[in-house]
Amino acid sequence: MNSQTSQGPPLPSGPLSSATPRASENAPKMQYNCADCGTENEIKPKEPLRCKECGHRIMYKQRTKRMVQFEAR
Ligand SMILES: [Zn+2]
Repeated sequence: MNSQTSQGPPLPSGPLSSATPRASENAPKMQYNCADCGTENEIKPKEPLRCKECGHRIMYKQRTKRMVQFEAR
C-alpha cells in the first residue's frame, strides 16, 4: 500500500542565514567556571555550556572586563 518512501526528514524552514549577525567571526569567548569542579572553560556564544573536565552543564559566568577586588578587613 504505502510504497512511497520518505526521502528524509523535513528540513526546518527557518531564517537561519538572515538572522545571523556578522559578528559571528569575532565572537568573543566567555570565561566560565564549572559549578561542579571549578575548571575554567572558554565557551563561545554558540557552543553549549559544558565543562571540558567533568561534563557538568552548569557554569558560572566570569566577568573578565573588570577586576573587582574587595578589601578584606
Ligand atoms: Zn567541571
